[in-house]
Amino acid sequence: MTTRVDTLILGGGAMGSAAAWELARRGREVILLERFASGHTNGASHGASRNFNLSYSDPTYVAMLVEALQLWRELEDETDTRLLDQVGLVNHGQGQPFAEVHAALSGVGFDPTMLSVAAAQERWPGIRFDTEVLYTPEAGRVNANASVDALQRAAARRGARIEHGRPATRITVQGDESVLVDTDTELFQARRVIVTLGAWTSSLLDGLLPVPRLVVTQEQPAHFAALDTSFVWPGFNHGYRPGTPGYEYWRSPVYGMHTPGEGIKAGWHGVGPVVDPDHRTFTSEPEQLLALRRYAREWLPGADPDVFTEISCTYTTSPDSNFVLDRRGPVIVGAGFSGHGFKFTPTVGRILADLTLDIPAPPLFALDR
Ligand SMILES: Cc1cc2nc3c(=O)[nH]c(=O)nc-3n(C[C@H](O)[C@H](O)[C@H](O)COP(=O)(O)OP(=O)(O)OC[C@H]3O[C@@H](n4cnc5c(N)ncnc54)[C@H](O)[C@@H]3O)c2cc1C
Repeated sequence: MTTRVDTLILGGGAMGSAAAWELARRGREVILLERFASGHTNGASHGASRNFNLSYSDPTYVAMLVEALQLWRELEDETDTRLLDQVGLVNHGQGQPFAEVHAALSGVGFDPTMLSVAAAQERWPGIRFDTEVLYTPEAGRVNANASVDALQRAAARRGARIEHGRPATRITVQGDESVLVDTDTELFQARRVIVTLGAWTSSLLDGLLPVPRLVVTQEQPAHFAALDTSFVWPGFNHGYRPGTPGYEYWRSPVYGMHTPGEGIKAGWHGVGPVVDPDHRTFTSEPEQLLALRRYAREWLPGADPDVFTEISCTYTTSPDSNFVLDRRGPVIVGAGFSGHGFKFTPTVGRILADLTLDIPAPPLFALDR
């Protein structure tokens, strides 16, 4: 039996779910197939927190942030849920492009502020500051689990068919306006297919689309018990200059935030072991975890380095760490969101929906960049 549909979406993580909502909002016929059960933790979009970090200077990303802020609020209104808390975010550390970020954000109406170490220390005593601080008050924290759920519920309420436990097994292009997608039980024929498979992108697109090499890593942040909740924890980004004495144990810049009910999340960025997403350990690499606990001990006085919960999650990263958003014939790809895609989710959904109408994505994300 062949099921015909205008647009088929493969992958029900953040990006596929956002595309489904956007297409359904436009009254388009859409089916989404997700391999695992609802709420699974095998990919990149699970957990109760992601930084809505505004600290970008590239105009493409800055414009996407402005749009995302609006769209997150529209999704909240439509689903009567709270997804984004603007608790602010502090950036500190040596060698950080604060001036460029400050100029870029001020240019679009945000209100970034530079604070001295003393002023920041007084305001956020649970964080130890390294240098002067770039504070972005409109930044915050997004609830990942609740967002994926809200996107899928809103899309379904508007007529989208959302299917869990339905892995796609093959994509066959028939021509510019037709593509076949196999599953174990059903064949689909669509005008457009959106492929948002995260760590599994290469499994169905290798040989079909010239996707830049994507590296999948198993990342391992942790939640540390909160010792000090006398203040509202902002999100935090802590950069450094490699080779600086005292930072030898650092693996990468550190990001983090307070996850209500779970503690203070902190993590190294993009340095986890390279993995096959179907053969992962879901356990932390011990030395990296020890180094992360040392970081918490030295730089997060408001968190307990000895009481923690490990997290396991995948990054899928392109060679230049920019996303891949493009189309070839009837096949549209959304991939390479690494460790910085979630904040942009609803805007990525809009870009993917536009690509089904052959409206191009920003050149920064092109396949042949
Ligand atoms: C530890 C960690 C911390 C992060 N922190 C932040 C942050 O603070 N701020 C931020 O902006 N971003 C952050 N990110 C990044 C963000 O979470 C990701 O970029 C985003 O979730 C990627 O979404 P996705 O839809 O591309 O991938 P996924 O959520 O992995 O979705 C891909 C989906 O495809 C499904 N699938 C696979 N194969 C098939 C198949 N054959 N058929 C059907 N379905 C299939 C999978 O089951 C999965 O659900 C973080 C990521 C991690 C891992």
